[in-house]
Amino acid sequence: MKGDFQCRRCGACCRIKDGIVRVSDAEVVRIAAFLGMGEAEFIERETELAPDRKSLMLRSRPDGSCAYLTADNLCRINPVKPDKCSTFPFEWTNPDSYSVCPAL
Ligand code: SF4
Ligand code: SF4
Repeated sequence: MKGDFQCRRCGACCRIKDGIVRVSDAEVVRIAAFLGMGEAEFIERETELAPDRKSLMLRSRPDGSCAYLTADNLCRINPVKPDKCSTFPFEWTNPDSYSVCPAL
């Protein structure tokens, strides 16, 4: 799929209402460093506990969009974004992916 897939940069995958972008410890370290923040500050200000309480996740805006999505559909932390973001939709999709991503 990777060879054929052409992202339309619509940002829909970063605007999923109730979407969850979990962050691992390693991702917290790299994103905090990229933003010039301490890890504790990043966790406090930029993350929330996931609903299942098993991990942290990136904070979302009230409309469901990721806090790092810019007005022109770019990712403000693109060089260090979570693996889940980097690998969608090449390495994983779920049943909802096809209704979210117009390029699939
Ligand atoms: S971190 Fe970037 S790529 Fe991932 S959901 Fe947020 S804006 Fe989208
Ligand atoms: S929803 Fe699909 S086409 Fe739109 S930005 Fe995400 S991966 Fe690209």
